[in-house]
Amino acid sequence: MFSNTFEYHRPQSIDEAIQLLHDVKGARLLAGGHSLIPAMKLRLASPAALIDISRISDLVGIKSTKDGLRIGAMTTHNAIAISDVVRKNYPVLASTAGNIGDQQVRNRGTIGGSVSHADPGADFPTVLLLLDATFTATGKKGEREIAAKDFFVDLFTTSLKEGEILTSVTVPVESAGASAVYLKHRHPASAFAVVGVAALAAMKNGKADDVRVSIGGVMASPVRAKAAEKALTGQAANESTIGRAAEAVRDSLKHPLSDSYASGEFRVHLATVMAKRALAQVCK
Ligand code: FAD
Repeated sequence: MFSNTFEYHRPQSIDEAIQLLHDVKGARLLAGGHSLIPAMKLRLASPAALIDISRISDLVGIKSTKDGLRIGAMTTHNAIAISDVVRKNYPVLASTAGNIGDQQVRNRGTIGGSVSHADPGADFPTVLLLLDATFTATGKKGEREIAAKDFFVDLFTTSLKEGEILTSVTVPVESAGASAVYLKHRHPASAFAVVGVAALAAMKNGKADDVRVSIGGVMASPVRAKAAEKALTGQAANESTIGRAAEAVRDSLKHPLSDSYASGEFRVHLATVMAKRALAQVCK
């Protein structure tokens, strides 16, 4: 299938890209193209113009800052998977990136494209919600920071405003070195998460502290399972407390997605089983 015709622009700077977004009617940003181009070929999207941001060097790279790890929006999944600083300090992020799609997808797909696209089966949104990441959006009025919990609004919908570019993602320094894990039930054809469960915990005097559970693939957007987190925080971690916490993820999973591969009921069941495994791994 061929896409509709479109204009093509390739800005060299963030300012130039923002100006183009403002001036060119019906334009969409093009990052790695691994979600947008297939959608255009299927005529699910027909932008009048593409603004290719892949040559903007300020959008690429991984930097340790006082606030945490700052990852440029155009940084590829592969660059994150093989980065020494990510592997050492945020191993869950590196392993998540390394399990996205296949090598070709990881070589082209970007963290900015993944979170801006907000596919319910995408992996980064679930993990970045777990890690309390912050998203930096840049537009005509300058920069603004958006917390992960406010970024993912609905199916394929984020809180980015018209004319804004996501320029970077920052993972807070407090999340560095945390015991965290991301498990996914892969769709056999695409590798997208049918269900993805991320968990994090710190053990203090034999009790679970700072327990976090984030679930993706089940609802339109990833969600923190607050009841599960509360159920385990301050408890000695054993089969029964972890099992109770895992069952409590159901409280956060109202209106699950359903399709020909997995019903909503099955997705919720998978989420409880995977939450139990994930919590057992981090509560050691
Ligand atoms: P693009 O396709 O270029 O853009 C996607 C959307 O985001 C577009 O609407 C675009 O305008 C917008 N956008 C891009 N960058 C920005 C920005 N900086 N600011 C604002 N808006 C922006 N993903 C997973 O998570 N897990 C998987 O297992 C997985 N498997 C895949 C398997 C296949 C075969 C394919 C084709 C894709 C798969 N993906 C998977 C999706 C992949 O990770 C995509 O690369 C990603 O979702 C989109 O990133 P991109 O850089 O290609 O963005």
